[in-house]
Amino acid sequence: MKLLIATGNKGKVKEYERLLDSFTGELINLAGYMDLDAPEETGITFQENSLLKARYYATATGNFAFADDSGLEVEALGGAPGVLSARYAGFESTDQSNRLKLLNELRELPDSSRSARFACSLSFSDPTGNLLFEATEFCKGRIINEERGTGGFGYDSIFVPEGETKTFAELPPERKAELSHRAKAARKFNLFLCEKSPLFT
Ligand code: IMP
Repeated sequence: MKLLIATGNKGKVKEYERLLDSFTGELINLAGYMDLDAPEETGITFQENSLLKARYYATATGNFAFADDSGLEVEALGGAPGVLSARYAGFESTDQSNRLKLLNELRELPDSSRSARFACSLSFSDPTGNLLFEATEFCKGRIINEERGTGGFGYDSIFVPEGETKTFAELPPERKAELSHRAKAARKFNLFLCEKSPLFT
């Protein structure tokens, strides 16, 4: 069975290749579909956006496809940046400008008020757009007041997961692959694939 990782985010692709390494079929990514425009993410929840991306890429490419919509929710900001995490600093934003905007907004906050969590919704669609699996998972932690570490992507260098002292960008990727929102969703998806993927071929 061919399975399309329906995301243009290289950080996510790298993590899913690790997280789904026991998948016995062929994992493919969007590099083979460069002409395909990304869909507009019009959902107001992670779940709506992951579903619309999974359906769009599955039907447009004729593959079984899964998509991930994820982001950071900061308690002191009422859950922002949330579904807007990728473009928090505006449409031209980069991971770095998003992090700087967030650090700036939280600069007056004491350590006790810096709770946050990552969320990840994963949706899996068949080539006709039927939803076959979905999961939403979280990883709690806090936002520190400076960047630390060079690994990972997005907000990793300012997020310390609960029970750790290092940011996701300082921890080894294997540790993030145990703890993260994406790891939790991928573990459930992996179980589903082990049981069900023989039925799809
Ligand atoms: P999406 O493509 O709309 O799902 O955007 C997700 C955005 O959320 C990314 O661009 C990152 O800014 C942020 N994000 C999601 N997951 C992670 C993670 O594991 N580490 C750091 N940032 C993340």
